[in-house]
Amino acid sequence: MAVSTVLLVIAVTCAHLTDQVGPAVDDLSQLLAALLASVSCALAAMAATGRLCWGWAALAVACLSWTIGQAIWSTYELVLQSETPFPSAADIGFLGFPVGAMIALAVFPSGASQTDRRRMAMDGLMVATAIGLVSWTTALGAVVHAGGDSRLSTIVSVSYPLSDLALLVLCVLVMSRSRSHRVPLGCVAAGLALMALSDSGFAYLTAQGTYESGNPVALGWILAFSVLALAPQARGATCSAVEEHAVAVAGAALPYVPLATALSFIGWRYASGLRPSTVEVSLTAFLVVLVLSRQFLTVRNNQQLAVALAGREADLRYQAFHDGLTGLANRALYVDRVTHALELHRRDRRSLAICFLDLDGFKAVNDARGHAAGDELLKLVAQRLWGELSEADTLARLGGDEFAVLLEDGSGPVDVARSMLDSLRSPFVITGHEVCVLASAGVAVVEPRDDTPTVDELLTRADVAMYAVKRQGKADVLLHTAGLQLDELDDLDLGRSLCAALQARQLTVVFQPIVDLASRQVHTLEALARWEPEGRSISPEVFVPVAEKCHLIGQLFQFVLETTCEQLARWTALPGGSKVCGAVNLSPTQLSTPGLVEMVVTTLRRHGIPGDRLVLEITETEVLADTVVSHAACVRLRQFGIRLSVDDFGIGLSSLARLRDLPIDEVKIDRSFVTGVDQDGGSRRFVRGVLAFAAEIGITVVAEGVERETERNVLAELGCHRAQGYLFSRPVAAAAVDALLQTLPALPTPRGEAVRQVPR
Ligand code: C2E
Ligand code: CA
Ligand code: CA
Repeated sequence: MAVSTVLLVIAVTCAHLTDQVGPAVDDLSQLLAALLASVSCALAAMAATGRLCWGWAALAVACLSWTIGQAIWSTYELVLQSETPFPSAADIGFLGFPVGAMIALAVFPSGASQTDRRRMAMDGLMVATAIGLVSWTTALGAVVHAGGDSRLSTIVSVSYPLSDLALLVLCVLVMSRSRSHRVPLGCVAAGLALMALSDSGFAYLTAQGTYESGNPVALGWILAFSVLALAPQARGATCSAVEEHAVAVAGAALPYVPLATALSFIGWRYASGLRPSTVEVSLTAFLVVLVLSRQFLTVRNNQQLAVALAGREADLRYQAFHDGLTGLANRALYVDRVTHALELHRRDRRSLAICFLDLDGFKAVNDARGHAAGDELLKLVAQRLWGELSEADTLARLGGDEFAVLLEDGSGPVDVARSMLDSLRSPFVITGHEVCVLASAGVAVVEPRDDTPTVDELLTRADVAMYAVKRQGKADVLLHTAGLQLDELDDLDLGRSLCAALQARQLTVVFQPIVDLASRQVHTLEALARWEPEGRSISPEVFVPVAEKCHLIGQLFQFVLETTCEQLARWTALPGGSKVCGAVNLSPTQLSTPGLVEMVVTTLRRHGIPGDRLVLEITETEVLADTVVSHAACVRLRQFGIRLSVDDFGIGLSSLARLRDLPIDEVKIDRSFVTGVDQDGGSRRFVRGVLAFAAEIGITVVAEGVERETERNVLAELGCHRAQGYLFSRPVAAAAVDALLQTLPALPTPRGEAVRQVPR
């Protein structure tokens, strides 16, 4: 198609320029060019979809209409050998072209918006009116007034150049706004320009009565259709951003050029004292209305744009300062508010408090029920927490399962924190399942007389307090105090200091008796590690997990075991001490450490302690039952007479039934079931159940955390074998045990009074 078009163009051009063209060649080459363009556009329409398809189809119809016009013209000229009448049926075909082309340009996809299209239509109308005005005042008006052969012939002859001009304008406008298909559209524009040139030449020559077939003016039509035939082939080649911008600017300015020209022209005419005709006045008025409407449209668009932008900006600002999931403030907004509150403290001495809240057990929900459930849970938690706060407070989600509150009236922050924790106590229902989570909270308060801390300092305080609660493993609230500073050392630092302390043997061991409830004798002394760097006590609840994390737990165990054996050897000689046992806590993970059994046995032997005087207390976990290695270790330890005790029984994972499968000798009922056993029926039932089961499988039961006589009495009544707790003695230094071994049988002693107390 492309090749044949190019060849045709070359041949016909040469023929025309060498003046070798008769009417037959001229007419037929025009017919052929228009037909080629129709076919080419029709093919393009078939290959395309959507608006592009309709665009090419309309252009194909336009070209076909022109082809038909040309066929009629040729029939008059070549077959009937007569002069073509003017106007004739051929003109219908010819004038069908601009109509079709206009439709094509209107539907061509341009990537322009609805508003762009409306503005484009107005621009087109403005330009057309301006041109019409100028044409009217110069030539058209005169032609119409003079009257041609007929009124119709005048209108038709004027229609050609006018419609071509309007098309040209429309084409440039479409191109200037179009982001796609600019190259084929450029070809169409070029084709239309050539068309306009020929039409104008034709109109002029016809008016002069000098037009004949074969005139070079006809070359314009042939070239125009050739270009239109090639237009669908011209694809690709998108323009750069700079070109795009330049075209857009030119496009925006374009409508004003003919407008300015028209208005200055009219102005000049009025200034020269020429009376404007009715048509001129009407067209000018119309033009003014058009300009005003277009301005109005632009202003309104700009306003809409401004409103949309403002809305978008508000959205973005909201997103930047809020948590997408819960709708709470995010870290940025929270820090901003805290900064502001601290500013008020500095200036007006206004107190404030912050609270960090971290969910306990959230990860388990996320892992077990999936992220969607986790997200749902976070939303519900946010709602409950919010329910405990007032409008003036700020609740933020800092990320993950971490929430933060800013209380600016500073009243009772610990109570508020506690009520937030309590609000989480009833289970959440997520996708039909009950889910439980609790939270740990750290509170930091800035009193009016305090120095104003920096934001970071304040946030760190709340964080440290919360971390301390976490490490004690409890859903609780802690108010930050100066003593907590040490916890600021992170686990690694703590691990490093602990390692050094172990090597320098700076840890100590205290002992807490476990008393036989029937004989009231001290049966066992539980060894508990103590660490007090620089005189400050760090709870084993903090350093034991650190020791585990930093692989120091083996060293810690060895140290405590060594010290216990040393003391057992010493106590043996004391009155009442000959049979006393030692209990050492063993972390469950240690059971699978190679060489553990050998180490324990060697240590016992070195100090001459028989295996049956050592109890190892192991917190109940899955490890205890489920791994072959730890099971085997338990069995071997027992072969040496060493007894195994399940520590903190009742809060862990074991059921009573599972105790049967464990190679153990003893359970220590957790303090939470012992405290208030004299009042709470539930606890009593639990203890009774454990006792019954223990009797069945032949193990000993120890009750932990006995603080009151009434508790001891109930336990004794129930038949509990042994008990441990502050009622009998707090953990004490080895030296104090000496006295304890003799005084304890004379129980009851008022809480710990008889012995020197060692700080925990
Ligand atoms: P645990 O083995 O359950 O030890 C009992 C804890 O309860 C001790 O706290 C003890 O001081 C406390 N306690 C005893 N009687 C009462 C009472 O009547 N009322 C109250 N409120 N508390 C009582 P401690 O010494 O702080 O030890 C905490 C935990 O740290 C221990 O719990 C044990 O799990 C761990 N731990 C301590 N020393 C060692 C150790 O040498 N090795 C290992 N692996 N863990 C240790
Ligand atoms: Ca223990
Ligand atoms: Ca315990």
